[in-house]
Amino acid sequence: MFDRFRGEVVMPHDENNEHRCTGCQKCEIACPNGSIEIVWDRGIDPHTEKKKKKIDKHIYHLSMCTMCGLCIEACPTDAIVWAQNFENSVYDRSQLTKVLNKPGSILKAGVED
Ligand code: SF4
Ligand code: SF4
Repeated sequence: MFDRFRGEVVMPHDENNEHRCTGCQKCEIACPNGSIEIVWDRGIDPHTEKKKKKIDKHIYHLSMCTMCGLCIEACPTDAIVWAQNFENSVYDRSQLTKVLNKPGSILKAGVED
């Protein structure tokens, strides 16, 4: 697909299972129809050993998403991007609710909002 195609919102992780989401909730606030829910907590940052806000779950309801892109524009750390996939049909609607941060993943060092 071409680069600007809007397949679904995803959160890239690097080879160390690190992402760029600080849990700031700007995407959640920007979404006009509640397609994003951020479940967050405070914990010790393994890089600085200081207490810091962190995401528990970045929940994305693909079934409700209108692909407007406001969440991606609002993100100050480029933590979420468009994927180019288009085969999103499923038999069970619950499969369209996704947790974008991978299990065990952490915030990349040095990323601040
Ligand atoms: S693309 Fe639009 S509708 Fe979809 S999650 Fe982002 S802000 Fe919400
Ligand atoms: S994806 Fe971006 S805007 Fe949303 S909570 Fe994470 S850092 Fe904030």
